[in-house]
Amino acid sequence: MAELFYDDDADLSIIQGRKVAVIGYGSQGHAHALSLRDSGVDVRVGLHEGSKSKAKAEEQGLRVVTPAEAAAEADVIMILIPDPIQAQVYEESVKDNLKDGDALFFAHGFNVRFGFIKAPAGVDVALVAPKGPGHLVRRQYEEGRGVPAIAAVEQDATGNAFALALSYAKAIGGTRAGVIKTTFTEETETDLFGEQAVLCGGASALVKAGFETLVEAGYQPEIAYFECLHELKLIVDLMYEGGLEKMRWSVSETAEWGDYITGPRVITDQTKAEMKKVLAEIQDGTFAKNWMDEYHGGLKKYNEYKTQDSEHLLETTGKELRKLMSWVDNDEA
Ligand code: NDP
Ligand code: MG
Ligand code: MG
Repeated sequence: MAELFYDDDADLSIIQGRKVAVIGYGSQGHAHALSLRDSGVDVRVGLHEGSKSKAKAEEQGLRVVTPAEAAAEADVIMILIPDPIQAQVYEESVKDNLKDGDALFFAHGFNVRFGFIKAPAGVDVALVAPKGPGHLVRRQYEEGRGVPAIAAVEQDATGNAFALALSYAKAIGGTRAGVIKTTFTEETETDLFGEQAVLCGGASALVKAGFETLVEAGYQPEIAYFECLHELKLIVDLMYEGGLEKMRWSVSETAEWGDYITGPRVITDQTKAEMKKVLAEIQDGTFAKNWMDEYHGGLKKYNEYKTQDSEHLLETTGKELRKLMSWVDNDEA
């Protein structure tokens, strides 16, 4: 069973006694920086020259300096910029500003797990990752609640790294909901696997294959769109609220019967064997290496895939249909 930690297990005064640098002011960065400040923590935000989010951070009353200045001033440095550029910013601005006893924090283990960032031996390396997008993390904090988080220690130079991580988690509301202890390896590998095999990759491939099957059989794309994409939200909301059980309780008996007999014909043992290969390539670093090569090589294939899918009949059909949905919040309407 997972180890869970709550407010009573965390000592807020630890992080209140440190100087924190939050590098980046995007989804996670703004939530962490504002809630740390509201929890009485000495915080500064590190942003690069020409940063678009600088004005917003200053408007919200935060002091913004360069990433190097932030890292030099602080003794806890939380890296909250996009994962593919973290290693470069670390090399250029953070590494030389780390002193023994400092702590380097992350919200995702990617760069540490795959060796793109290697902190000096005297520095604590820990992870505090809320299991939700930044705006929810901030809103829950402001409402006196919190989003559950996970925490891990990769390198415990001081012997107090986990207590520091829990204290940080408390300052952003995480221990109000509950913090689960994990490792950088578990967090990184499960995160990549989940988004590839199930959440993003698995779900979009399933939706596309279902849509294509109906359209190729002569059904109208608009009807296929409703059945294979639009209604997915309803199903996922039910699963989110009450697992597979609540979803099956809510749909018709006919849908439930079809679920039992057809699901395993679509997602087969062969699919699961392929999932195991995907996981192995995540674990042995193949995925991370290929992705960093693609990213730093100019994102050629990435952009090809993006264009291809944006021209898919599923997407062009959806774009028109969503104009009929006044309640759907989208920027194309
Ligand atoms: P974002 O993409 O929202 O971060 C963007 C921020 O990084 C902006 O403030 C941007 O500045 C800044 N930035 C970009 N380049 C640089 C640079 N060279 N130097 C300094 N700052 C820079 O990131 P997320 O919040 O999505 O992710 C941050 C971390 O949190 C990642 O490790 C991610 O895996 C993890 N995470 C994210 C979650 C999420 O919900 N998004 C959930 C849990 C973990 P500007 O735009 O002003 O130029
Ligand atoms: Mg991820
Ligand atoms: Mg139906």
